[in-house]
Amino acid sequence: MLLGANVSIAKTGLLHAVEESISYRANTYMIYTRSNRGGNARPIEDFHRDEANELATQHGIVDPVVHLSYLVNLASPKPETFNYGVMILQEEIIRVSYLGFRYIVMHPGSHVGSGEKEGIRRIAQGLNEVLQGDEKLWICLETMAGDGSKVGNQLEEIAQIISLVRYQDRLAVCMDTCHNYSAGYDIVQDFDGFLTQFDKVIGLERLKVAHINDSKTPFGSHKDRHENIGRGSLGFEAIHRIVNHPVMQNIPLILETPGGLYREEIALLRGETDLLPITH
Ligand code: FE
Ligand code: FE
Ligand code: ZN
Repeated sequence: MLLGANVSIAKTGLLHAVEESISYRANTYMIYTRSNRGGNARPIEDFHRDEANELATQHGIVDPVVHLSYLVNLASPKPETFNYGVMILQEEIIRVSYLGFRYIVMHPGSHVGSGEKEGIRRIAQGLNEVLQGDEKLWICLETMAGDGSKVGNQLEEIAQIISLVRYQDRLAVCMDTCHNYSAGYDIVQDFDGFLTQFDKVIGLERLKVAHINDSKTPFGSHKDRHENIGRGSLGFEAIHRIVNHPVMQNIPLILETPGGLYREEIALLRGETDLLPITH
């Protein structure tokens, strides 16, 4: 099982991310290579790539993931926003390729009242402007919770985006347990059913990354509020079953839970402990 968390690149860049992951006894990880508040990205040459990758190898840490900035919204009807998204995505592909990562997770976007169909069309247009076909990584579209005017809550929407893109080989999917449950996929009662549907609509070969989160809100709530593993509406048993499913064994499983309990949650999911410490 590849289990990791969303870790920081403060100060020493990738080296920080790997050291933090080691402290959680993780064997994969996810970073944001730039701030979600905007501004210029830190030069990628300052990320201590080689040192970090060597340390990662020593500790059996593999297949790290980058999450694209939340400021990228290719579904936006505003040309400035769309063009900014195209520019950042282009830049990130170069930066992430330099790091040697294989996955960039991206939120499909929000149509901001312009309608789902238009949103889907623009996302595909943006990807077509960016992708050259020879990239050595995958853009993983993340499945969303159904909040706001997000695009990509239903598997069919993700499939439509992919169908409109020229270089479909460069596209993959990142599922998010909190989002899927909120969007109305009952992965607690029937994860196999979800995978069957995923395979039919998108194709399981495109499932390359998963975000593992519990949810503060009930099934079908269309809200995006992550909770610690076992403390939310999905519950420990369901999440434990999901991460141990054969389909999930070779893909990076990334925690994006609150409260700095990554080490404990990783141990819990690996069956090395059975309780999260009481906090608050
Ligand atoms: Fe995300
Ligand atoms: Fe997520
Ligand atoms: Zn979320």
